[in-house]
Amino acid sequence: MLWIIAAAVFAWLAFREVRAARVPRRGYAQPRPVFKPYLIACMALSAGFAWQPLKYWRFERLLSAKATQLADGRPARVHCNSVADTLFDSEQFAAGHANIETGQIVFQHGWCATLMDYVNKPASASPEDFFALHMFTHESMHVRGETNEARTECQAIQRDTRAAMLLGVPEALARKQALDFYFNSYMGRSGDGWMSAQYFSDQCAPGKAMDEQLSDSTWLPLYSAADEQF
Ligand SMILES: [Zn+2]
Repeated sequence: MLWIIAAAVFAWLAFREVRAARVPRRGYAQPRPVFKPYLIACMALSAGFAWQPLKYWRFERLLSAKATQLADGRPARVHCNSVADTLFDSEQFAAGHANIETGQIVFQHGWCATLMDYVNKPASASPEDFFALHMFTHESMHVRGETNEARTECQAIQRDTRAAMLLGVPEALARKQALDFYFNSYMGRSGDGWMSAQYFSDQCAPGKAMDEQLSDSTWLPLYSAADEQF
């Protein structure tokens, strides 16, 4: 919000400078010529302050469209929280959350930037960058209609490759990162405490009860590996 106000103030200063060159100010017979360096500085500052909110607005639109696809057509609307939004968010300690009824997905401050980093440079993604992608898939699964956390998480695991590809990540890289996340992060939760257990099921594996047999599943290479054994 502060960025938008700053952009508007500098846009108004630029407008005032142009207007002063056309309409004489009160008490003056002649209009004052435009002071070009000042006008250019005001316009540049206005554009600079507007760039940040514009970048996030475009990213929110992209994420909303892709989350809707992941949710099998249920309308999703992604919002990137500012610092102030996060402070007043009733679920401020969750990195992200979704409302199944409204389709609203909220990323707390910083997580949209992390996801943006992942989308811009997927090849050099940190584990945290990929977690932002996984969280995006997870919240989309809530919008799709799932409330149980373990099932939501497993549906997301199977669609992380699809989600990364929808955001422009090449298939081979998307699949490798999604499988790494499944083996390292997800499977690593099996021995963890109650909090992690809520998000884990030993039935979330190829051929087990939670396997949806998706044609583009993250697990595709594991199916063919299993076939070769028989
Ligand atoms: Zn959840």
